Amino acid sequence: MDILQRLARFLDRPLFPWKKLIIGFSVAQFCFEEFLSFRQFRVLKNTKPPKVLEQEVSQQVYDKSQEYGRAKAKFGFVRSLWGQIQNVAFIHFDVLPKLWSWTGGLLRFLPARFSGEISHSIVFVLTFILIQQALSLPANVYHTFVLEEKFGFNKQTPKLFISDMVKSNLLAFVLAPPILAGFLSIVKKTGNQFVTYLWLFAAFLQVFSITVYPIFILPLFNKLSPLEEGKLKTETEALAKKLKFPLHELFVIDGSKRSAHSNAYFFGLPWKKHIVIYDTLIEKSEEAEVVAVLAHELGHWQLGHTTRLFFISQINVLYIFSLFSVFINNASLYADFGFLQEHPIIIGFILFSDALAPMDLVIKLLMNIMSRRFEFQADEFARNLGYKAELASSLVKLQIQNLSTMDADWMYASYHFSHPILSERLKALDWTPTGKVVEEKSEEGGVEKASGREL
Ligand code: ZN
Repeated sequence: MDILQRLARFLDRPLFPWKKLIIGFSVAQFCFEEFLSFRQFRVLKNTKPPKVLEQEVSQQVYDKSQEYGRAKAKFGFVRSLWGQIQNVAFIHFDVLPKLWSWTGGLLRFLPARFSGEISHSIVFVLTFILIQQALSLPANVYHTFVLEEKFGFNKQTPKLFISDMVKSNLLAFVLAPPILAGFLSIVKKTGNQFVTYLWLFAAFLQVFSITVYPIFILPLFNKLSPLEEGKLKTETEALAKKLKFPLHELFVIDGSKRSAHSNAYFFGLPWKKHIVIYDTLIEKSEEAEVVAVLAHELGHWQLGHTTRLFFISQINVLYIFSLFSVFINNASLYADFGFLQEHPIIIGFILFSDALAPMDLVIKLLMNIMSRRFEFQADEFARNLGYKAELASSLVKLQIQNLSTMDADWMYASYHFSHPILSERLKALDWTPTGKVVEEKSEEGGVEKASGREL
């Protein structure tokens, strides 16, 4: 703690140019990421697939996946440029202090007991969320209804898009106030000790969300139904039993409602787990391939990846809160951003997060390195259970259906990818190309989108 206090004093220098520093960080990060994207774009112009995929992927599929990759890259450039302009404009035009005082004015319309910093912060954050959403709406609409549509991935209707947006906003308006109130009152009441209490609060929230998410939140967006009796169910249950995985229930999720993206995952508390399989995965794969995918997933569990990730996220939270304690009373940081008299905690937290951005890059890089190692280990695990051929063919199939990037620049991949690319995974599996998969693939329209959590 003493070191943190000394660091806090050292960093609180009157007239320190925090604003310039933070703009500098953000511009540097933007340039670095665009440099990586430029490197990746060159790979996306290749005309021949990597050697290991030559027999598995037809020229037509390869060309289409490259085209999709380039379209996504161009869109990504416009989107991040837009984000960058907003970011700099927000800082340059003192949007934060203006929005803070404006939302303070809104409190007049609420009953008198909603006054003070906590209510003000809640109104501020909710307004901030709405503004951010409005600013990113055009890009989101374009992404879903133009880009994804063009390549046949989009399954959303405008109605579903809007209802999703309304529901997630309502959810934010229900969940954000109590969480923020908890966070702010802990900091206010526990003074210098807030790091430990805040950390306990965050751990509690994490466990709470694991329990509540599948019961209350997931059903708002998707339908989970129990997996039908049959070979897939018996084989999965046998696998779970063999590995002593505490399988409670097996679900199928209607992922096809939004996109053709296919996947499988598990969730739940350590003693009661549920496996969820996307309807699209079942539809597009042989039963044995789905089981191979689940063997990979259960490998993550058996090898302790899930537990390790949970502990790493605890350390990360502790590190963030400890450093926050260094910045929370930094008058020079508040002052440079136009907060001369008031030092609202939430503003301190936002500014501190910006100042921490360069460290986030390092953490992201390290997490990706670790995650890619975990993926190789889980593949190896499935292979040792005898699923080598099924896993390899399901990986190739998913790749083709998803039109995922077939090849990557090493620098771009190290920074952005949490999963190794397909050719690396097939090599690690000692996969000998058979040319079989390419005959089975469905090229007509059956393309899928890969996003979010992959296997
Ligand atoms: Zn995995």
